Amino acid sequence: MSEFITRFAPSPTGPLHLGHAYSALLAHQMARAADGSFLLRMEDTDLQRSKPEWDALILEDLHWLGIQWDGPVLRQSEKLGSYGTQLSKLERKGLLYPCSCSRADIRAALSAPQEGQPHEVYPGTCNSRPMSDRQPGDALRLNLGRALSILGDDLPVFHETGAAFLGTHKIDPVNARTQIGDVVLSRKGEDIVAYFLASAIDDAAQNITHVIRGEDLFDFTAIQVILLTLLGLSIPIYHHHKLIRDEAGKRLAKRDDARAISAYRADGKSPADIRRMVGL
Ligand code: GLU
Repeated sequence: MSEFITRFAPSPTGPLHLGHAYSALLAHQMARAADGSFLLRMEDTDLQRSKPEWDALILEDLHWLGIQWDGPVLRQSEKLGSYGTQLSKLERKGLLYPCSCSRADIRAALSAPQEGQPHEVYPGTCNSRPMSDRQPGDALRLNLGRALSILGDDLPVFHETGAAFLGTHKIDPVNARTQIGDVVLSRKGEDIVAYFLASAIDDAAQNITHVIRGEDLFDFTAIQVILLTLLGLSIPIYHHHKLIRDEAGKRLAKRDDARAISAYRADGKSPADIRRMVGL
C-alpha cells in the first residue's frame, strides 16, 4: 500500500469558517480512509495578521469537529530560518531580484490568495536589478522567465485528483507568465518568506504525498510545482476540492464571522450538523 500523508494548513488570521471545516474534515477523512497521516500546519508567516488567539480557536474548533492530527502542530513562525536556506539556493541560481514597489502591492501578493481578489501579475518594474543592489526594505521576487528557461523543455508535471481539474497537468510557460508572473518570495523589510514558497517547502519537509485544499488555490499550484522542481524537492499529488458557498453562491470568507464555526457552536449546532451543512 502506498503511503498517504496529508495536511490542513490554515493561516491563523481569523476564525475557521465552514469552508475551512470542509477542507479539514475532507483531508482528515481521506487520510483515515487510506490508513495514512493527517498533519496540522499553522501558516503564520504573516506576523502582523497571525494571532495566537486565532491559532488557539482553530485548534479548539478542530477538536470540537472531532479531528485528530498526527504529531505536533508545525508552526511556520518557529522555523523561519529554514526558508532562508531555500531562498539562498534560488538566489545562487540567479533567480531572485530585489523589488521596491509599493507595500500595498506586495502585501496583496504575500497573503494566501482569496477568491474575488484577482492575483495581480507583477509588471516586472524591478526585474533588471541585481541582488547586489538590494536595499534594506526591498522584497525579493522570483524571476519567472529565468526560472522557466532553466527548466527548459523539461517542464514539470503534477497530478490532480480533484474533480474540477482531474488529470495530469504539465506546466504551461505562457500561462505561468501571464497569470502568475514574478511572485514575491520574501517579504518587504523582513526576512520572511511568502506563502507560495513557505507552503511548498513545508509540503516537501513534511513529506506530504497529497495536498488537499480549496479550488481557489489551483492556479497557484503551477508556481509551487516550479519552485519545488527548482529546489529539487518532491512534488505531491494535488486534490483541489469544491468551495463551500452561501445561499447567494458567494464563497464564505474567513472574515465572514457570522459563518465562523465558533458561531455555529455558540448557536448549539453539533459537529454532525456541520458535516451535513458541508455535504459530508
Ligand atoms: N494557508 C492557506 C490558507 O489558509 C492554505 C494553504 C494551502 O492549503 O496550501 O488559505
